[in-house]
Amino acid sequence: MPSMNDPSSDPATGVNDPIAEGLRAVRSRIEAAARDAGRDPASVGLVAVSKFHPAASVEAALRAGQRVFGENRVQEAAEKFPALRARYPDLKLHLIGGLQTNKARDAVRLADMIESLDRPALADALARAADREGRLPELLIEVNTGDEPQKFGVPREKADAFIRTCRERFGDRVRGLMCIPPEGTNPAPHFRFLGSLADAHGLPTRSMGMSADFPEAIAEGATLVRVGTAIFGGRPAMLARP
Ligand SMILES: *Cc1c(COP(=O)(O)O)cnc(C)c1O
Repeated sequence: MPSMNDPSSDPATGVNDPIAEGLRAVRSRIEAAARDAGRDPASVGLVAVSKFHPAASVEAALRAGQRVFGENRVQEAAEKFPALRARYPDLKLHLIGGLQTNKARDAVRLADMIESLDRPALADALARAADREGRLPELLIEVNTGDEPQKFGVPREKADAFIRTCRERFGDRVRGLMCIPPEGTNPAPHFRFLGSLADAHGLPTRSMGMSADFPEAIAEGATLVRVGTAIFGGRPAMLARP
């Protein structure tokens, strides 16, 4: 319960805490989308994407019961999450952004899951980092389902081979696939493609769907949705680029 000297008891952010409200709304939309699709709502996990939002916002979500968070920059995650994890040991951090090989060691140290494994050089860097750190986060392979040149993700035609070599190398740490469909197109075919690719490889986790399209992603089998804006509100405009 909020106490008098807890910032969440402020009338502006207490009972009507907008982040708690946002979370509640997103969770109920997840449940509705799952039911509409004949799926168990518990089969859809929510990654609350907190990039560009301060640690206080993450903490508001933690107080509202959220435990899984997504960040797209290693540096920002390193600044925000170790202190929060000390207080909420069951917190889970997913790194969801394009990852440079020189950040692999910090990523391996920080993350519970890396959702953006997309090329052999990064697989090499993660393997080396895992050896040094003695831990390996769970991994998702990001697929560039729209084959967009400027986007992260393994191109469609290389996906099968890359998934196979990653599984040979990392075994069960490879949990599944992730995609970000091109903006301004119907995302459903991209979600469907990712689902069928995951099926073909017997991979359980499909991370797809963001604020604008997570119900459609759930209809197509998403097991993780990554939602930022619908929970935390808009990101500061000058920092909004992913
Ligand atoms: C920012 C981001 C999201 C969340 O986007 P919203 O539209 O704010 O929900 C999801 N996935 C990735 C990879 C992102 O970078």
